[in-house]
Amino acid sequence: MERLNPAELEIDLFCKGMRISDGCLDDRPKLARVRAGLGSGLELKFSAPHKTIHVNVPVQEAFALESPYLLEKRDGNFFVSDERSEGKLLYPVEVVVPPAWYERKTTRGVPMEQVGALQGTYLGIYVGKVCGFWSAKAPRPMNCRFCATGLNVGVSEAEEKSVDDVVETALAAKKENGVTFVHFNSGDQVGGGLDVVEPYVRAIKERVGALVGVQVLPSKDLSKYDRLIDAGVDHFSFCYEFQNPDYFKDYCPGKAAALGQQPFFDAMAYTAEKMGKGRNSGEIIAGIEPIEDTLEAIDFITSLGCFPTVCIFRPVKGTAMENQPSPSYEDMVRVMRRVFESCMEKGIPIGLAPNIEVSLVVNPTDARYLVPSSLKKKLYLARLKAMKAMAGPYFKGRMKAIGEE
Ligand code: SF4
Repeated sequence: MERLNPAELEIDLFCKGMRISDGCLDDRPKLARVRAGLGSGLELKFSAPHKTIHVNVPVQEAFALESPYLLEKRDGNFFVSDERSEGKLLYPVEVVVPPAWYERKTTRGVPMEQVGALQGTYLGIYVGKVCGFWSAKAPRPMNCRFCATGLNVGVSEAEEKSVDDVVETALAAKKENGVTFVHFNSGDQVGGGLDVVEPYVRAIKERVGALVGVQVLPSKDLSKYDRLIDAGVDHFSFCYEFQNPDYFKDYCPGKAAALGQQPFFDAMAYTAEKMGKGRNSGEIIAGIEPIEDTLEAIDFITSLGCFPTVCIFRPVKGTAMENQPSPSYEDMVRVMRRVFESCMEKGIPIGLAPNIEVSLVVNPTDARYLVPSSLKKKLYLARLKAMKAMAGPYFKGRMKAIGEE
């Protein structure tokens, strides 16, 4: 067993999870809660040559209890050991301490941890009512099979969030954790997710000052995207989950019945055209549909000018898929390598916005460690570096609230 590079380790932790040695976290706060369909795990971070990698490691699911990885504490420092290696490979890591504001309440008395969750370096907030697909019971459940949102919203998350609660939580996250990006997501909403999210977007832009992302079901009325862009949205992501239409239908019955795949594709193409290359993303799940379909999805998303956000399937406890196996490491390395290669081939700018590291996925910039060195790669990375430097003042301006110096 050879030592894994940072991206390989991140992928293997997503695929195999991790056990925690007895007593190792006794002085640590509880596991970080994460929203949306991906469950909760332990937030770790570790250093890579050019960046810090954030990873939300599965620790509660059945497969994690069999993992060769073990979190240990030695002389006050944390390590992940790999028990498959002779003499045990040790990877130094940091266990992320949940933010202090998780313990506080907004002035309306709502616990801030029920309003937003820190996921890596950004603030994620679910808005609106619990996704409508979760309440449709007949003739069969319509929620996406892998999703845990219906298990969280109204339980570990406040049922509906007021704009003021969201603003207060975002201000705390900006001040205390240096958050630069607030991401809103939602499921099926009466009237459409874009309308539900708009007042929150405007409030963050006006009263907090941060980059804002929106991930809701697509609207067939594309003019609604113009309105949200005018309100200040910096990024849209489109979760269509599967390229293969049969898998989309079987695993996302609500989305298939209400929309089909085409509105996702149309909205992705429209917003990419309006906002420019690399600003928006197509989000898919890897490890359920055949890998060739996932690879096709990656190239399709970059062909539209978006970057792929690829979640490694996690059979989250309590969901309809909790007994499915977690994906193979080898397949996921292939998938994530293709993410970087495809962005490089299409010249998609990645990693330009400041301080956005997502712990629930392998970020496209993490995947650089999976692609061998070449002139093409060097030129792409040099171009990204120059673009990032040039984009600095632009992002600084986008992160100011009204009246902020
Ligand atoms: S649309 Fe699907 S993934 Fe999104 S919240 Fe609803 S059931 Fe979950």
